[in-house]
Amino acid sequence: MARHSGAGLILAIGALGLAGCITQNNHHPLSSLSTPGRVRIVQAGATINFVSAWRFLGVIPVYSSRSVFDGGKKLRRDPPFLLGSNGNDIVHLSISMFTPKHLPPAIVKSEVNDFILNFANAMKMQMDRVWGERNKRKFDFKYYMVGNKTQVARNKTHILFGKTFHLLFYGKHVGIASWPTALTLAHESYHLMVGALGAHVPPQNPDLRLTRRQSEMLDEVSARAFSACVALQATGRIEYMAFYDKDVNMLGDRHGTPSDAQMRRVLMPGRKIPDRDTVDFMASPLLLAWWTEYAGTDKVIGLGTPAAAKLFDLCAHHIANPQDLWPVLWKLANDGHDAPELPFYKTPVF
Ligand SMILES: [Zn+2]
Repeated sequence: MARHSGAGLILAIGALGLAGCITQNNHHPLSSLSTPGRVRIVQAGATINFVSAWRFLGVIPVYSSRSVFDGGKKLRRDPPFLLGSNGNDIVHLSISMFTPKHLPPAIVKSEVNDFILNFANAMKMQMDRVWGERNKRKFDFKYYMVGNKTQVARNKTHILFGKTFHLLFYGKHVGIASWPTALTLAHESYHLMVGALGAHVPPQNPDLRLTRRQSEMLDEVSARAFSACVALQATGRIEYMAFYDKDVNMLGDRHGTPSDAQMRRVLMPGRKIPDRDTVDFMASPLLLAWWTEYAGTDKVIGLGTPAAAKLFDLCAHHIANPQDLWPVLWKLANDGHDAPELPFYKTPVF
């Protein structure tokens, strides 16, 4: 799931407030992995995208992509104008909008196909690094850009024929040809890769006994890490602000990263996490704790730096199954000192 806040903010400071979500649902009689029971829109103008996958009647492989966001104007038809379309043998993306006349000033139309190809190639490379040849999946994305005041509630469900997921997402104008879009697509793809119809890589430590909610939380952290690796690969840089969530209310006075004690509270195997909010709201801070501890408190990780190597290593070796991330975070939670906070956010950004 991805949330974007207002247009000006996105353009001003990049991929603000990206988050993700997929929920396992015990109550669905036919599914091992199903859709969230409730969707919380946390900010006015927020956009939420998510995916789910399950086996209907235990056999038929079904998946869906959903976009839900608020706004005054209901979407009556899909945008007809194809802005760009590109890809490789594993990942393809097309982006459409209503009329090119309404392109936001930050978007240069001639660069959209380059943006798409960079994204597709980066995602292919990262999928190779994370899952290798195991059960390789393909992704065919359609991304529809709509006005900032549009209300969207779309759900596209498919049966999985072969190995290709056909996914449909909607985004506000500001998301086009910019990294909020790519982060969202990579993030949701991660959920599919580790879900019911994905790569099925067993955890490195099968004896680890986590609660369902803890597993969901690690799925979320890993999805953010995967999208960070894709964005870094594609653009040569990734900023931690892409994962900063100013709505986090679990951290008390800390800025962006949890203390060791806070980490242990949610990571202790079998520990009951109070509610679903924790899953959403601890995912970014847990990634940022890893980030500031191992990659430093610089706002940007650039390709070719030691920090980039560490991030790629995290993706290559610790997220093929989301549980593989647990020992990395648990070590961090028990190393005797709290992860550095985000220095940038010690002063208000708005
Ligand atoms: Zn997610």
